[in-house]
Amino acid sequence: MRIQDAVSRRTFMGAVSAALGFLGLEPQGELLSSSLLQGRGQRGQRAGQAGDQGGRRNAEDYDTLAKLANNENPYGPSESVTKAMTDAFKYANRYGYPDGGVNQAIAQHHNLKSENILTGAGSGEILNAAGQAFLKDHKLVVGAEPTYGSVFSVASGIKKDAIRVPLLPDYRLDIPGIIKATHTHYRDVGFVYICNPNNPTGVIVTKQEIQQLLDGIPGDVPVLIDEAYHHYVNDPNYATSVPYVIEGRPVIVARTFSKIAALAGVRFGYALAPRELIEQMRTYSTGSTSALAKWAVVASLKDGENEAKVKSVTLALREKTTAQLKELGYDVIPSQANFFMVHVKTDITPVIEEFRKRKVLVGRKFPPMDEYLRVSVGNESEMDRFIAAFKEISPGKQQAQAAKTSA
Ligand code: PLP
Repeated sequence: MRIQDAVSRRTFMGAVSAALGFLGLEPQGELLSSSLLQGRGQRGQRAGQAGDQGGRRNAEDYDTLAKLANNENPYGPSESVTKAMTDAFKYANRYGYPDGGVNQAIAQHHNLKSENILTGAGSGEILNAAGQAFLKDHKLVVGAEPTYGSVFSVASGIKKDAIRVPLLPDYRLDIPGIIKATHTHYRDVGFVYICNPNNPTGVIVTKQEIQQLLDGIPGDVPVLIDEAYHHYVNDPNYATSVPYVIEGRPVIVARTFSKIAALAGVRFGYALAPRELIEQMRTYSTGSTSALAKWAVVASLKDGENEAKVKSVTLALREKTTAQLKELGYDVIPSQANFFMVHVKTDITPVIEEFRKRKVLVGRKFPPMDEYLRVSVGNESEMDRFIAAFKEISPGKQQAQAAKTSA
């Protein structure tokens, strides 16, 4: 057997069985996984490493964990995507190989031109490039608190600062507050970062609010809209911000294949933006993505059927699990994403550890929401394990019972 055949068979068996295990059956392997461990806050991470500590994790141990910490798709890449990667394996030893026209495929998918696309090894790389590019001559990024912390990490890494505008009491982003902060510090602001739906809450910024933001801030301030969880949203008040890019507004939309497309370990993300902004960001990106990732992306863009299946099973499990938590007396923030936050009414640090002891990984702490646990929606058996562990741990039990009696 040729080395290439042997490696190819070994590498892709896991992904194939993961695809076959879709809808109910446990995935057999997670060979393409990015990995995860608790305890490292997003602010402390470098962009492109979505909680990644898998390198230090023992592979056998990893396979036994319910991985509900990093908002991945537990079912693995679809059959067509797996086939595309398997076929692309023959390019593993090459430069300058055919890439399936990945940039054109993305451009076509969004009705844009190739000059409007910047690709990277995950959208983490895109966020990093944006941070480097737009904070170069500026000191500040404006964003919500809490939100996905990658751009804030980039800012602090290059000795720039962030204006963090707290969420409203109903967990929505404070758009008027973000507009005001941008005006107040206009000369110093490099860009505004919006995560929609927001990570860690799963709450959307409505299309009206996006419009209000774009019309409300000075016209030359770029707005980066991170749509990592776009594909899971059902709320009709939400809309992608891609049309603003098409209009030529200074908007950068970031997308990733790490979530619904189940390619977190393969690494591919992209930005859509007017050409001038793409050029500014390009200076800070490696532009280096693998042959497997490129072909996986081309196949994935064509596989709307699998996307719909993943969305439907994920939302059904999200609703089932959150109903169970409510039944136990816990409030859950209504989410439009493949994760949700439950209010456990006690500090979550020891709670996370209790879950870990039961081989369930749950989300990290997102200050100042110290009593809210972020839980990714895994497959059915992972969610059963989560609920069983939750019942055993009964975090903040007394407070929860008190709330249930008074309701
Ligand atoms: N943006 C958001 C909102 C995320 O939650 C994540 C990962 O969890 C990313 C970007 C980065 O993902 P990746 O670098 O895998 O594309």
